Amino acid sequence: MTEILLAAEASTVTQTRHLATAIPGPRSTALHAERTQEVTNGFGIALPVFVARAEGGIIEDVDGNRIIDFASGIAVTSLGASNKRVAERVAAQLEAFTHTCFMVTEYDSFTQVCKWLNANTPGDFEKRTGLFTTGAEAVENAIKIARAATGRPSVLVFDEAYHGRSLLTMAMTAKVNPYKLNFGPLPTDVVRAASANPLRPAEGLDAGAAAALESVEATILEHGADTFAAMVIEPIQGEGGFIVPAPGFILGLRALADKYGIVLVLDEIQAGMGRTGTLFASEHEGVAGDLILTAKALANGVPLSAVTGRVELMNAPHTGGLGGTYAGNPLACEAALAVFEQFEDGSLLVHARRIEEVAREVLEPLLSSTNIVAEIRGRGAMIAIEFADAGSLAPRADLARDISAACHAAGVLTLTCGTHGNVVRLLPPLVIGEELLRDGLTVLADAITNAAN
Ligand SMILES: *Cc1c(COP(=O)(O)O)cnc(C)c1O
Repeated sequence: MTEILLAAEASTVTQTRHLATAIPGPRSTALHAERTQEVTNGFGIALPVFVARAEGGIIEDVDGNRIIDFASGIAVTSLGASNKRVAERVAAQLEAFTHTCFMVTEYDSFTQVCKWLNANTPGDFEKRTGLFTTGAEAVENAIKIARAATGRPSVLVFDEAYHGRSLLTMAMTAKVNPYKLNFGPLPTDVVRAASANPLRPAEGLDAGAAAALESVEATILEHGADTFAAMVIEPIQGEGGFIVPAPGFILGLRALADKYGIVLVLDEIQAGMGRTGTLFASEHEGVAGDLILTAKALANGVPLSAVTGRVELMNAPHTGGLGGTYAGNPLACEAALAVFEQFEDGSLLVHARRIEEVAREVLEPLLSSTNIVAEIRGRGAMIAIEFADAGSLAPRADLARDISAACHAAGVLTLTCGTHGNVVRLLPPLVIGEELLRDGLTVLADAITNAAN
């Protein structure tokens, strides 16, 4: 941990929160006005400030405000948004060549990224990896691979799932607004089963895993077990609200997948790559997927995704069946190798666990001191606060929105999530300094206390 803190302290972007203007300031406001004249309205915005530079736990905007980063660009820049080693490796690669297309001529960094993922993902079996560009592309390719291997069509997904915005992954995602609204018709052969949400179990279920697993098995049998190529689950659901499934649920899915010959796909795109204090979130569950998906933090912000899994599955597609122009681009592969180097000594995982300790220390008193916090949950540097009325548990999206807005005004970038939009989620870079982390958490805790009064 000390080493990481030193790295953050030695940074060129001062690692303290600082308000030079209101947020957003005048320059951001002017740039945002121009943006609305040029950019499609289809993109939303969490905080309309324009970034000048960013490093460690700080985003510095064009008005000179220094904002604490509790977003990491949605769990991407885990090593800070201008990580030195990533920049060095990518710069050296830029000098050599930017692109060849791995389907045209080869480069060894692609192989080395695959080798690291084969060796470090859970599962003591022979593996192969394919590299792609976005998370949604990794999900789509996992389905192609599972279909090719099993000869079956259907995909089992779960309540509150998020798997992306492409046509197939949009169908696999649970939440309609904003992800699916007006964008149908959607691909068929996607079947949704109950998840095991301890705070908000599906209708007729309790908070435990056993009833949820019975319900999942009933869904499988209702549609015909031998129609399912794959079941896809996030070990901690991200956009759905940082839902840690009831203990034993993922293990139970493993057993159902084995029983019915269904490929278990673990979508670790948000929770993987050290975010939860282990390299992969499924390690907390003691489960290995047949296929595991990584993206987001994999290359610290250079677009890269991967499907890793059992050799017999990964080699099922015909040669030429997988690929993509930019799939495993050399700049992205170098960035990933720089990320892997920095996971080597284990200190990043220690720091992710420390972030959880500090977050719980500052936030958990709010469970009893206010009557609006329904739950504080998550693992490592993936922590969420769910807002609801005491007793009825009626979701309070208004509170999540107002509290997030208060944090933004005070220079702390938080994001909301959840099926009901009533969750504030924290995804700080794993390299954030502890003082900065405590400052941001205190701003958040004060905003929650104020909202409760
Ligand atoms: C972000 C995310 C995706 C989609 O990744 P993109 O790179 O945005 O396509 C898929 N699954 C999970 C769990 C995610 O968090």
